[in-house]
Amino acid sequence: MALTIVVLGGSFAGLQVAHRLLKHTRNTHKDLKVILVSKDSHFFWNLASVRAVVPGVLKEEQYNLPIEPGFAKYPAESFEFIVGSAEAADLDAKTVRVVTATGERSLSYDHLVLGTGTRYMDPNSPWKANGTNEEVMASVKSTQEKIRAAKHIVVAGAGATGVETAGEIRFEFKDKEVVLLSGGDQILGGDAIAGNAEQELIKLGVQVKLGARVTGSHELPDEGAQGGKTEVTLANGETILTDLYLPTMGVLPNTEYLPAKVLRDDKYVLVDEFGRVQNAENVWAAGDIISEPKSSFIIADKQAAGVAKNIDLVLNGKKTTPVKLIPVDVFVCAVGRSRGAGRMAGIKVFSFMVYMIKGKTLGTQMMPGIVDGSSF
Ligand SMILES: Cc1cc2nc3c(=O)[nH]c(=O)nc-3n(C[C@H](O)[C@H](O)[C@H](O)COP(=O)(O)OP(=O)(O)OC[C@H]3O[C@@H](n4cnc5c(N)ncnc54)[C@H](O)[C@@H]3O)c2cc1C
Repeated sequence: MALTIVVLGGSFAGLQVAHRLLKHTRNTHKDLKVILVSKDSHFFWNLASVRAVVPGVLKEEQYNLPIEPGFAKYPAESFEFIVGSAEAADLDAKTVRVVTATGERSLSYDHLVLGTGTRYMDPNSPWKANGTNEEVMASVKSTQEKIRAAKHIVVAGAGATGVETAGEIRFEFKDKEVVLLSGGDQILGGDAIAGNAEQELIKLGVQVKLGARVTGSHELPDEGAQGGKTEVTLANGETILTDLYLPTMGVLPNTEYLPAKVLRDDKYVLVDEFGRVQNAENVWAAGDIISEPKSSFIIADKQAAGVAKNIDLVLNGKKTTPVKLIPVDVFVCAVGRSRGAGRMAGIKVFSFMVYMIKGKTLGTQMMPGIVDGSSF
């Protein structure tokens, strides 16, 4: 029987672990077989989702690349890609039940890597991949059409996704009214860059409303003068009528297929400093499914590298080493396609530098190297 490693999730964490195992661990274990399972046949570059929803700015291939061709260089017997959803994991029997478009499979593994990340609470939101590629792209395209048609847009939730979305829309469409609702008294959860980011949004013409927590929203019936509009209700009782309501709040871990014994109280996965999932044998995790110290592709990148290395060490009878994260906390937020706000640890990054680091491309140039493994 081949040495089988099942990797769940075809995003930052899963793709890197799969490539590293195939590129490096296969050198010492010729019988290695990596099975990568992902709901989405493509790698969706979620950092660019905030720009992808603005019609006419990005081409689809800049934020959505097929995964399978990136693995074509490995021997056929050492890699399998399954487009499907992990629905249950028996961590004692070491099996995962995967549902695909054509049926169901039970995969047996020697090691299991969890990289199924998180999703936004609103199932139709376009910010992160949450479904088949057809569903993800349909969500992006329908948001593009709605943004094109709307004159008044409410973006709710003033975390990085909300701030960037409001900035991207207003940068492109100076004739649209864009309102950003922040539940708290400051945007970005009161981070040190909140004031700068707010100033950048105001310069762009975004209306920033602080202390504006949304308690509900409903679409008005199609007929009548206000037909098709959405009424958004705030905690203070105020209502806002808008052509388009874009919520960016609320993120959930994709861990429903896992037993409670490997989860923390908040339903994220419990890992040790080596990236090993607690209360299970030969199970590892990386990325947003842990969201510790925070959800970040830079952290997912480090955790994936650490997990791939530790699996390799274990398979070669060596001691695992702690996963190394980045030494400084970096937070950069693009505001439109020319400016932004950011910091490296406590040191401010100037607006133009944020544009150069993030806003110019939203990192899309890194995508091909992750899909084909040349980055690792
Ligand atoms: C708009 C935006 C901007 C961002 N900007 C930054 C930034 O500037 N800096 C930064 O560091 N981070 C940023 N991030 C965060 C970063 O993108 C995430 O940390 C990153 O996506 C984590 O990757 P991941 O591999 O852990 O999982 P995810 O990207 O969450 O992907 C999980 C994958 O698993 C699949 N999946 C889910 N459930 C199942 C299942 N049951 N079976 C099979 N497959 C499944 C999904 O389809 C998806 O492909 C940003 C995120 C967004 C949305």
